[in-house]
Amino acid sequence: MNIQSALKEVLASLPEGVTLVAVSKFHSEEKLMAAYEAGQRVFGENHVQEMTRKYEALPKDIQWHFIGHLQTNKVKYIAPFVSMIHAVDSFKLLKEIEKQAANCDRVIPVLLELHIAEEETKYGWSLEQCRQFLADGEWRQMTHVHIVGLMMMASYVDDEAQINAEFQLASDFFDEVKRDFFADDPAFSQRSWGMSHDYPLAIQHHSTMVRIGTAIFGERVYQ
Ligand SMILES: *Cc1c(COP(=O)(O)O)cnc(C)c1O
Repeated sequence: MNIQSALKEVLASLPEGVTLVAVSKFHSEEKLMAAYEAGQRVFGENHVQEMTRKYEALPKDIQWHFIGHLQTNKVKYIAPFVSMIHAVDSFKLLKEIEKQAANCDRVIPVLLELHIAEEETKYGWSLEQCRQFLADGEWRQMTHVHIVGLMMMASYVDDEAQINAEFQLASDFFDEVKRDFFADDPAFSQRSWGMSHDYPLAIQHHSTMVRIGTAIFGERVYQ
């Protein structure tokens, strides 16, 4: 299937209010442009160098979402143009984003990454760490980052019951922190969960942003 019809099929399956982040990592600028020409404007990348290269080469109305693990020493390269950073997994990283965004005179929307899946390799806050971090309240002093929601990845397993349970936990946790810390901030509204293989389940659990690569662009070739 070509990219434009795959994109249309994915878009047709999303309820209103769910944003598609087209994950273009490892795919060529030509493939990305095929999606762009079909109207897609939000793209996700997980390597700083690759995203910066594509940002420089491609149309300036693209919204670049950084969805991968971000090293603090690389924040400065994307701070001037990134639209959203999905996977903030430490206070140290948040502070660096605050600093670099201030340097660019920007406010960068970010999501806090939860560690819910069983895989040990995944990054992110445990629910207890995240609660503690929000309760400590230092983030309230930050004027160049705006925490607008949560992000997570479910375990990569076949067991639908497990995936459902993980999305449900994330959704319930969103409601909890919304109530406890962000009740007066309407911008805190984003739930970034769901990828090619599990996004229909994620949507059932109140995802507002799905990050989909393979179902649009085909398999990635890692060189
Ligand atoms: C690569 C990636 C995706 C997209 O995965 P697909 O299976 O290709 O849809 C989504 N989220 C994150 C964080 C990723 O790194």
